[in-house]
Amino acid sequence: MSKNTTIQWCDSTVNPTMGCDGCELWDRNRKSCYAGILHMRFGGATKGYAPSFEEVTLFPGRMAEATRWPDLRGKNRSDKPWLNGLHRLIFVSDMSDALSKVVSFDYLKDEVIANVTSEQGRRHHWLWLTKRPKRMAEFSAWLKDRGIEWPSNVWAGTSITNQRTISRIKHLLNVGDEETIRFLSVEPQVEEIDLDEWLPKADWIIHGGESGHGARPFDLRWATSLIERCRNHDLPYFLKQLGSQVVDGSGWLSFEDNHAGDWEEWPKSVRVRELPRV
Ligand code: SF4
Repeated sequence: MSKNTTIQWCDSTVNPTMGCDGCELWDRNRKSCYAGILHMRFGGATKGYAPSFEEVTLFPGRMAEATRWPDLRGKNRSDKPWLNGLHRLIFVSDMSDALSKVVSFDYLKDEVIANVTSEQGRRHHWLWLTKRPKRMAEFSAWLKDRGIEWPSNVWAGTSITNQRTISRIKHLLNVGDEETIRFLSVEPQVEEIDLDEWLPKADWIIHGGESGHGARPFDLRWATSLIERCRNHDLPYFLKQLGSQVVDGSGWLSFEDNHAGDWEEWPKSVRVRELPRV
């Protein structure tokens, strides 16, 4: 967990679990998930990590600790001015997928829901990202059966990386109710993706390219196109980073920052970092 993260679209991160069941970024053929790579280095040897990435481990108490972080309402962030005016935005699960199958709904209720709805927790917004939105929707229904509404300060998000993973969005739409903020993290985008059908149903788009060893190319025209489509739907769009392999119609582009996350280096037309105004 980190009170001050360098991730551009949030203030902080917290992990009620560590480790993961895997996804298209962590399987037999590919090992590019950042959380997985860190676990290969530190897992089992460093306090706070799972014994290995595949052994999803519970860390009760972290959510409660995060609720106590200072309120950021009305505070300016000099390094992330696009977040000014918002509550503290806390990314839930950047080092894990808390909807991995061994994590029980009872644990998620007690650790996540109870804390975010506490007096302290309600001062923040919690951005819960998963590649398992089907299980998140099941959890949402399970809570409802127990008389617990999806908290309005929990934004529900899923990641889309290629055309095949678009199927996650229909499950995300079953999380919460009509007030729930639902976001798509289209990152890392590794191929052409048609999102047109889904943009009117989303509340926020995060976008970016892949970085690190074996990164696949990100075409800058994907950003210009998605920015335009989001504009057409009055949908806030946030370009996080271009990644380490960037192309446009004329060839490869190079940047000082090895993730191309410094927007000062980008063409002005793609310097877009917007958030839902809530
Ligand atoms: S679901 Fe998230 S944490 Fe799990 S392997 Fe994939 S990218 Fe990593």
